[in-house]
Amino acid sequence: MARYARIIVDIPVAGLNQVYDYTVPEGLRERTRIGQVVTVPFGRRRVNGFVVGFAEKPQIEAGRVKDILKINTEEPLFDEEMLKLLKWIAAYYKSYLIKVIKTAIPTGLVSGRVGKKRIGYLKLNQPAEKTRELVKKLKKRAPKQARVLQILLESKRSYSKSKLAEMAGTSSGTVSRLLEKGYLKYVEEVEERRPVLEKDELVTRPFKPTAAQAGVIRAISGSIKEGSHKIFLLHGVTGSGKTEVYLQVIEEVLQAGKGAIVLVPEISLTPLMVRRFYSRFGDEVAVLHSNLSLGERYDEWRRLKRGDARIAIGARSAIFAPVNNLGLIILDEEHENSYKQGENPYYHAREVALKRGKILEIPVVLGSATPSVESFYWAKRGRFHYLELPERINQDKLPPVKIIDMREELKKGNTSFLSHDLERAIEDSLARDEQVLIFLNRRGYANFILCRECGHVIKCQNCDISLTYHAGANHLRCHYCDFTRKVPKNCPQCGSKYIREFGIGTERVEEELSRIFPGAVIDRMDVDTTTRKGSHRKILAKLERGDTDILVGTQMIAKGHDYPNISVVGVITADTILNIPDFRSAERTFQLLTQVAGRTGRGDKAGKVIIQTYTPGHYSILAASRHDYTGFFQQEIKLREKLFYPPFAWLTNIVVQGYEESSVMVGAQKLGKFLQQYHKYIDEILGPSPAPINKLRKRFRWQLILKFRDWNLRNFVLTELEKRFLIEQQGDVVFNIDVDPLKML
Ligand SMILES: [Zn+2]
Ligand SMILES: [Zn+2]
Repeated sequence: MARYARIIVDIPVAGLNQVYDYTVPEGLRERTRIGQVVTVPFGRRRVNGFVVGFAEKPQIEAGRVKDILKINTEEPLFDEEMLKLLKWIAAYYKSYLIKVIKTAIPTGLVSGRVGKKRIGYLKLNQPAEKTRELVKKLKKRAPKQARVLQILLESKRSYSKSKLAEMAGTSSGTVSRLLEKGYLKYVEEVEERRPVLEKDELVTRPFKPTAAQAGVIRAISGSIKEGSHKIFLLHGVTGSGKTEVYLQVIEEVLQAGKGAIVLVPEISLTPLMVRRFYSRFGDEVAVLHSNLSLGERYDEWRRLKRGDARIAIGARSAIFAPVNNLGLIILDEEHENSYKQGENPYYHAREVALKRGKILEIPVVLGSATPSVESFYWAKRGRFHYLELPERINQDKLPPVKIIDMREELKKGNTSFLSHDLERAIEDSLARDEQVLIFLNRRGYANFILCRECGHVIKCQNCDISLTYHAGANHLRCHYCDFTRKVPKNCPQCGSKYIREFGIGTERVEEELSRIFPGAVIDRMDVDTTTRKGSHRKILAKLERGDTDILVGTQMIAKGHDYPNISVVGVITADTILNIPDFRSAERTFQLLTQVAGRTGRGDKAGKVIIQTYTPGHYSILAASRHDYTGFFQQEIKLREKLFYPPFAWLTNIVVQGYEESSVMVGAQKLGKFLQQYHKYIDEILGPSPAPINKLRKRFRWQLILKFRDWNLRNFVLTELEKRFLIEQQGDVVFNIDVDPLKML
């Protein structure tokens, strides 16, 4: 074994993105491996570090190399292939390797705070024959003790002390006495913490695939058998049976003795998907997501590592799951924004999946009803293999969509937020005892409070964002930092009492609907009603049972709930996202409308979708109303090319933040000046300028957006930036580099 180990220490500071050499003491030499957590001296401190390599010669003078003090985790937390992936992420996203490692590995494992859960169990300490004699003796003198022994004799297994006492109808003191006398003994067993999963009896067996499904399954299994790295874009309309395809190809993966990772955007919103996997594969499934307790996550992670579970299903960070002999990665709803991490490292799970697939030479399947513009473009260019499921299963038809021009409604004298058509559709649906989904992309009661005399809008004191009025809580709240305040009686600027709320949110829609349809049971699903653990499930279960007539909600209701009794889907206003100043707003509008529309028309009920808008002519709304992905893509890709945005440009957004407005400005200008030296490599620089959200959580924000035609040149410039500029920048201004940003506000 090598004499020196390369260690990355757990101190994420600029300049520390490098490895340090330590001597492996004789006694540890046989046991030290890549991926272990060790304790090492660092300056005057002792810190944790990860072993990332070995060397025969140290990088510095051998006499100055210090010793590894101890090994904290005997079992490595990652292997060499995973390390390669983590290093790639750090390099691509310009992050620190230590940060990437800690993103990939469950917290409890690194800190050692969470361990195996051990429980003491009690067993008989004498042969059955002797115990039986003892029971006879004790029966009169100590009947309770006799009963405890009798239970253990009959069940032939062990129980915890409290369980045993409970079963015998006695106190734990009685059990203790038997233990003291040596009739019982303690054994320690590891108890596994498992999240509770529900099964769905209908899907325990594979369905016979449709012709289209069979073709798709054949293509993917071919690649699984070859063990080749192919990227498939599976474009299947809502209700086309993508999940069944996933299940059947995973079956093949398992039969080949391999494992799989399935990523879903947000696990609490896709309970159906998890249920299906669990029903088909049972304990082979391990679920990884942030709603699990640390202990549960630790145990699920270890089940995968041991090979006791071979399918990992989870949100973004499940891409790092330690599946043994990984044979396939599936990303469902690949267009979803939640796959991108909103903080350093700003990685996108899709890019990481593609890289992991490449390192391991295995296929990656990207599934969506509305693929991202980038992915569809790559499919057209032949980098991804395009697979299509163009029709719904069971001959279900995609529902007809009607667009309502709300300007016309106003002209007709209808000042309500509900068009006549939508109101009538809801009425009919309720009369037939069917269900309605109402979608609005804004929570709260009103968007903002405005003074009608001076035009002042009440904003958050920490952010450059108007406060939203929440009627239930009767306060104003910031949707970015959660700051709340009372609703003032007078305008804080001019003192006028003519201040009132404008715009509508889900809370207001719920209230108005219950006024218009007093007999209907109306429920609401948004961030405000789902903060408590399990509340998503409760709302959806109520809908599934048919106890809810109308469900009002934000995009949470747009995802994967296949409830056949929903016959009307209404969109209150399609314009909320379209009006966000971002080049992806048309794409998001199209995706969201298509997803929402896909929630109806399942089963034997004919569905109907009504979209209300002030911009009925916009191509994203028109295309969504025709379920026409290609039509949307053709318009959108032309604009992207003309305006030089992805997939034609490689974007980077650098946000400069700090508590002092002037130092943020100075910092941003310094950065702009530095980048000017590289202007011949950069195709376009936007800024430095104040970010659209100029203040967030008390910090001022400026930004610079860089556009590159060539990926290699971007990497060159960003590396120069890291090496020559960022390391010197100290003080209260922070520079955040977001590579391939999804949000630029
Ligand atoms: Zn005022
Ligand atoms: Zn705020």
